[in-house]
Amino acid sequence: MTHSLATGRRTPLPIHSRNPRRAYDVDGYEITPMTFQQAMDKGVRAVRVICDCGCVDETPIYVGAWPSTSFVPDAGMTLRCGACSKPDPQTVPAWPKKDGN
Ligand SMILES: [Zn+2]
Repeated sequence: MTHSLATGRRTPLPIHSRNPRRAYDVDGYEITPMTFQQAMDKGVRAVRVICDCGCVDETPIYVGAWPSTSFVPDAGMTLRCGACSKPDPQTVPAWPKKDGN
């Protein structure tokens, strides 16, 4: 008995059916995004909110703001741009700045 092909097997997605909130590698495989827990474990304390209007803002990650298991790119669904109030901005981890210059 062979095990199911459905488990552990990923299919490359054509561009038109890709999720704009997900990254894809060069072969078209979806890259699993970072969760808030993983981001915080790496020292991330804020999400960078990037809007089409060019506004870039940072929102602190506070306890209860988002479930620790939710993906950082999905946080934008609950946010609006601070400048133009457009909903659904892009969100990425705001990596802590390195010391020194
Ligand atoms: Zn905006």
